[in-house]
Amino acid sequence: MVRAALMPLPQALESLLVAAESGLGVETVATLDADGRILAQDVASELHVPPQDNSAMDGYAVRCADVSQSGAVFSVTQRIAAGSSGQLVEPFTCARIFTGAPIPPGADAVVMQEDCRLVNDCEGGVQIEAVPTPGQHIRRAGEDVARGQVVLRAGQRLGPAELGLAASIGLNSLAVAKRPRVALFSTGDELVMPGTVAPQEMRPGAIYNSNRFFLAALLKRLGCIVTDFGIVPDRLDATVAALSDAARKHDLILTSGGVSVGEEDHIKPAVQSLGALDLWQIAIKPGKPFAYGQVDRTHFIGLPGNPVSSLVTFLLLVRPFLLRLQGVADVAMHSVAARADFAWPKADKRQEFLRVRRNANGGLDLFPNQSSGVLTSVVWGDGLVDNPGGQTIAAGDLVRYVGVSELLS
Ligand code: AMP
Ligand code: MG
Repeated sequence: MVRAALMPLPQALESLLVAAESGLGVETVATLDADGRILAQDVASELHVPPQDNSAMDGYAVRCADVSQSGAVFSVTQRIAAGSSGQLVEPFTCARIFTGAPIPPGADAVVMQEDCRLVNDCEGGVQIEAVPTPGQHIRRAGEDVARGQVVLRAGQRLGPAELGLAASIGLNSLAVAKRPRVALFSTGDELVMPGTVAPQEMRPGAIYNSNRFFLAALLKRLGCIVTDFGIVPDRLDATVAALSDAARKHDLILTSGGVSVGEEDHIKPAVQSLGALDLWQIAIKPGKPFAYGQVDRTHFIGLPGNPVSSLVTFLLLVRPFLLRLQGVADVAMHSVAARADFAWPKADKRQEFLRVRRNANGGLDLFPNQSSGVLTSVVWGDGLVDNPGGQTIAAGDLVRYVGVSELLS
């Protein structure tokens, strides 16, 4: 049998990103509910933020030219709180002012109250003990945002700071990409759902379905609405039935297991009978078997069954696919150079993703068991070393490190 050449990871990713250009459409949501969503349109401001020059301190608004030396006494002719506005400050007078209150006409600096002393014998007088410089403690109109400025871009992921910024320019709703609706199921007759059979009563050969749990969590973190189809038995008719049911009302069907080339792997013929499938053998370890296709007009992605393979291929391929589907431009995985405090003398031909953890000396330690079934390696680690195919590593070498927390957020 002739073995097909393995597909390099960048090529697989590129094909997925092209498929994700189809997008999902746009909906409007309340700014308060938009955390984690992807902005669908540029957002420009219709006003300056702050709207007027205002005080950064509690203190006194003065005319600098009048305060050439410390110790001068001025009468306080007005009081301006945040939310109100003041009158012209006449020469040799000043205004009591509070943080956020507009600077009154005539004044060009604020002296903080810690540098002022109330003068009791002179009704309403204040002694200025520090000579101000023009503009001191004044927050300028538009210094945060100028009218007309684009403050958020289409394709940008909204987090707490972005929501605050949108609110600061008066927006109580935002146009965002619709959330991907994802049908999730696992395949494998060996799988048992936790809670249905106690550990000591598991039949020989049975294992708990772990993939379902981390895949559902990963999908939710990416803003997806997940429908859980549970475990589908290793039979062609059951797989076809589950897929055609899942294709209705979903944007993506995501499965794990059953995409190898074993006799119990029914995903391939089932998807082919309902739509189209490209089975890719990707040149990565862990995670070689991977499938992309369509069932009706719904995207289909089949992940490998081994838990670490399933998790790593999700991070490398499904995550960027789902982000691009929501309109995110930059979906690249970012790596930094880090020192390996371990050796990896037997490199695989495939590009490898090693489970590692940063140590107190600024280097990386390797989890001893790198098998694709060992989920403890991912829990122990905080990142992956992205190691090119055929590349051995000696202790002290610089390697490419990808922080997994970045990929999980
Ligand atoms: P497969 O890709 O179906 O050949 O599965 C490869 C390996 O992953 C087998 O050892 C399966 O038992 C295991 N596996 C498949 N699906 C899951 C799952 N949902 N949870 C845990 N292990 C799984
Ligand atoms: Mg299987």
